[in-house]
Amino acid sequence: MQHHFIGGQWRAGSSGETLPVIDPSTGEVFDQLARGNAADIDQAVAAARAALSGPWGRMTATERGRILVKMATLILARHEELAQLEARDTGKPIGQARNDITVAARYCEYYGGAADKLHGEQIPYLEDFQVVVLREPYGVTAHILPWNYPAQMFGRSVVPALAMGNAAVLKPSEDACLSPLAFCAIAKEAGLPDGALNVVTGLGEEAGAALTAHRDIDFVTFTGSPEVGTLVQKAAAERTLKCVLELGGKSPQIVFDDADLDRAAGFVLKAITQNGGQTCSAGSRLLVQRSVYDTFVKKVVELFTKSSTGTPAMDRDCGPLINAAQQQRVQGFIDQARASGIPVLAQGQVADGVPAGGFYVAPTMFGPVPRDHRLACDEVFGPVLAVIPFDDEDDAIRLANATDFGLLAGIWTRDGGRQMRVAKRMHCGQVYINCYGAGGGVELPFGGVKRSGHGREKGFMALEEFCVVKTVVQFFGK
Ligand code: NAD
Repeated sequence: MQHHFIGGQWRAGSSGETLPVIDPSTGEVFDQLARGNAADIDQAVAAARAALSGPWGRMTATERGRILVKMATLILARHEELAQLEARDTGKPIGQARNDITVAARYCEYYGGAADKLHGEQIPYLEDFQVVVLREPYGVTAHILPWNYPAQMFGRSVVPALAMGNAAVLKPSEDACLSPLAFCAIAKEAGLPDGALNVVTGLGEEAGAALTAHRDIDFVTFTGSPEVGTLVQKAAAERTLKCVLELGGKSPQIVFDDADLDRAAGFVLKAITQNGGQTCSAGSRLLVQRSVYDTFVKKVVELFTKSSTGTPAMDRDCGPLINAAQQQRVQGFIDQARASGIPVLAQGQVADGVPAGGFYVAPTMFGPVPRDHRLACDEVFGPVLAVIPFDDEDDAIRLANATDFGLLAGIWTRDGGRQMRVAKRMHCGQVYINCYGAGGGVELPFGGVKRSGHGREKGFMALEEFCVVKTVVQFFGK
């Protein structure tokens, strides 16, 4: 049974109600979570507020950083155990889960090391005046996270907030929250003072909505779907709170006719199969110049056909999807595309011997997909690739920018001038040239435009999101 972590203690939920923890690879229940409500959120926010005027609030940035670096060491010391937990909770292949735990530790190292490097400024002003610009924590930061990368998301969202001295209240996803809970125990062992980190598990519309509507939080950061992101932003706007939103994507991979096609094909496959396509930055639209369309599509089809889906322990390209609803949603996109007469170019395998109750869907590649079809515009959040031909550079740019999202873009060309011309015209938060990085890149500022959200996580810049600037003007004349 999993409890909330509030004020440094494990606490049963105030209602006594629970939620099942389901293994996506079998569909079986293997644990229970506390089903948090507004009363639990109240306790967590109060614990966070108290921490700010206790030992946590008095710590120097260097001391905070040391605790985070110690967390990284402890995470790495339990690497395999945490990777197995993450794989069981999310269904992802064990190799991908191992990478996620390494990345979570890396966030702790990175932001631990950075905690005392973002400092204020002194501004030249009038005679006999001294002006300093301070960077201070917001106070109590609220974090709402999705299920696709619980360990990485913890590192990406909560760790920089702690580095800047905020006290965090986290509501992880009801579908996958075991690694964030395990990190609470690790944080305590690393010496994090009570109340600096609080986790309340439960449903979005109960615990999540209670957290975003709470009157004593100072900042909200949300990672998840655009629909819920809009609700979160409205709740934050009610109290004029700062809100960072990391939402969905429909990211294009643009392949020009002068590209290294063999290299591009491998990246294209990985960018849509990684984490079963349940990655906000999945390369889910493949835009191919007409002159190499047949040649390039053939290369991707070969790889796609060999790709396979299996249990976490089988460690194939994909694992199962997170739950039955997601399986039905993704299958719905596939069925609708077939019914619209869009050709299936390739389908991966589902490995023999996967448990019948698991939420498996074979990776599927469709093309050519009409530019206005749902499959070309909407986020599937599963291993489904939409292939679309384009004519020339201008057409590629128009097409790449033609969705409501703007998270990532991949550009494949050997022409140096075109690389930068196209990169500058991409309306999105990250551009990869002759490479593609769905997920990783702790050091690289990340975030969206348009319906993909606003604000930046990852990298040194994320620290600026988690602190507020205060200008102090001092007259020191006689
Ligand atoms: P979701 O929006 O359904 O849920 C995300 C979180 O919000 C969960 O913890 C959920 O419990 C909570 N929630 C739900 N309703 C709420 C409410 N009314 N008030 C407050 N909280 C509420 O998203 P999901 O299905 O968990 O994740 C999939 C989505 O997340 C996709 O759209 C994906 O692209 C996006 N995502 C984006 C990023 C990014 O960095 N841009 C990263 C991962 C996932």
